[in-house]
Amino acid sequence: MKRVIAVANQKGGVGKTTTAVNLAASLAATKRRVLLIDLDPQGNATMGSGVDKSQLQTSSCEVLLGEAEISSALVRVEPGGFVLLPANQDLTAAEVRLLTMMAGRETKLRNAMASLRESFDVILIDCPPALNMLTVNSLVAADSVLIPMQCEYYALEGLSALLATVEQIRAAVNENLELEGILRTMFDPRNNLANEVSAQLIMHFGDKVFRTIIPRNIRLAEAPSFGKPVLFYDRESRGALAYLALAGEMIRREEEEREKAAAPAAEADVPAQAVSADAVPQETVAPETAADEPATESIASEGTEGAMTSEGAEGAPFAPDPHRVQTDS
Ligand code: ADP
Ligand code: MG
Repeated sequence: MKRVIAVANQKGGVGKTTTAVNLAASLAATKRRVLLIDLDPQGNATMGSGVDKSQLQTSSCEVLLGEAEISSALVRVEPGGFVLLPANQDLTAAEVRLLTMMAGRETKLRNAMASLRESFDVILIDCPPALNMLTVNSLVAADSVLIPMQCEYYALEGLSALLATVEQIRAAVNENLELEGILRTMFDPRNNLANEVSAQLIMHFGDKVFRTIIPRNIRLAEAPSFGKPVLFYDRESRGALAYLALAGEMIRREEEEREKAAAPAAEADVPAQAVSADAVPQETVAPETAADEPATESIASEGTEGAMTSEGAEGAPFAPDPHRVQTDS
């Protein structure tokens, strides 16, 4: 796995930061070398990793503006097992500075990161809740975009604006930018609308929707106040298990793709089950604490049976919104 993944959605409060921090820790737990870049002036990923954003000497602000080497700003996160490029509100000023630049403002992060791309297996970028210059910088620097979504009515509306932006960036500067996947977060299966939106997502995006569903879990909301990924706060919690399952799914998917690319045509239709399990043990996926929450049982591990093929991902399922949306909550 060698990938730069932007965790993006211009809607706030959908679980970007929670996903970035906990996926970083879960991938690190599988012995991947992980860098988490905080690109949100709110600095939530920084605080959630146990780093005090008010005490930073150098942060993603200076790195983005080319005033500091990225290596000089990195912090090792323990417990967590990953490396962090922290951020704080200075990043807002950096964004304004970028806006006034005539040329090269979209590629600042990509250039700043170039020196250490090979030092990490996965680089995750936690984007701000806006389709602004910071998000554009991370999409330009990324190989793929992971979109956390709450399955509610307006979620689909925002998605089309984000996908239109991804399309523009692909056309203009980063032709290899892919959709890593859509992640259903804070999911409550007792909510009919959530189930409907979830079904629609699968209809339109097929296997681009991660099979792993992140349930609403109080431990995920509590962990940041202890400055820890949930894996180090309550490793048995459904939230921790769900993010481990997500890491496992991503690794498995990548192995499958690699095998598909390497295998001669004759072997191309080996069923998915035949592919070997990966570093994350399957049994960790089954939520042991589900007994007291029967209605949500098996969410962390449940597949989305009947998922259609990825064909649906190609077209524009929702009318693309030409206006860049900036939503702050
Ligand atoms: P974003 O980065 O998209 O703004 P956050 O990751 O900060 O979203 O999540 C918004 C709020 O919801 C935070 O308070 C977070 O702790 C909480 N939260 C996120 N995911 C979950 C979840 N799966 N279950 C419960 N609370 C969650
Ligand atoms: Mg956030």
